[in-house]
Amino acid sequence: MINFNFHQHSVFSDGKAEPEAYVQQAVKLGFEAIGFSEHSPLPFDTPFSLKQKNIERYVATIESLKEKYSNKLSIYRSLELDFIPGFSEKFEQWKQACKVDYAIGGVHLVKPPHTDELWFTDGPDRTIYDNGVEKYFDNNIKKAVTTYYHQINGMVESQRFDVVAHVDKITMHNQNRYFTEDEKWYRALVSETLHLIKEKDLIIEINTRGLYKKRSNKLFPDSETLQQVINLNIPVIVSSDAHQPEEINLFFDYAVSKLRQYGCKRIMFFKEGRWIEKGL
Ligand SMILES: [Zn+2]
Ligand SMILES: [Zn+2]
Repeated sequence: MINFNFHQHSVFSDGKAEPEAYVQQAVKLGFEAIGFSEHSPLPFDTPFSLKQKNIERYVATIESLKEKYSNKLSIYRSLELDFIPGFSEKFEQWKQACKVDYAIGGVHLVKPPHTDELWFTDGPDRTIYDNGVEKYFDNNIKKAVTTYYHQINGMVESQRFDVVAHVDKITMHNQNRYFTEDEKWYRALVSETLHLIKEKDLIIEINTRGLYKKRSNKLFPDSETLQQVINLNIPVIVSSDAHQPEEINLFFDYAVSKLRQYGCKRIMFFKEGRWIEKGL
């Protein structure tokens, strides 16, 4: 059983509850550790990011929870940092401002060529995804998906962080409508990204959120991509990307059974300032 979760959002970004409510839920479930990973501030207004004016309060709130619950579980402060070439600040800036214990990097907003608009590929609304494929990529899904993976590659090559969030989330709104994951061009893109992640010694997150939000019937990543992650011996964590306390361990058993099925024997755990392996 996994009794830790290093990726969750509270009211400091787009989560639904105060941090302490997640801590209480974690204690109730007998968790060893939890980490808060609010969406990093961005240089424009968004409904989901941590506001710059709230950084100090975020740091202080998690700090006081660390103390208050120190005899019950370990609590960490992190960020889910958005990488948008030409827009996002260096990860280092927010990591330092928020005094994070570790850092998660991810892509939710894709920067298409020849425009300063951004393509939002996440969230519940599939029409935003479809409209973006049409508007920014002339309905060429290969171009769209390639731009996404190249943005992840750029993040992996240029920023310092620990965990790659939901690496293939670009497939969430695809639902096999534009392409299937066994297509050669798609496998080549994924393979390039995974090799780069391996080279940089990063951890890949296995994210269960799509399943319990019913936006997907799979993990991110799953199937061929998850198999390749395991084959390449890239370290993994399982997280639920919780936005409310009841979500902190959803579909963990399912993820573990999938990981075992693909031959995974270890999972990463954050302890005393570093990532260590735990047997699965
Ligand atoms: Zn995310
Ligand atoms: Zn998240």
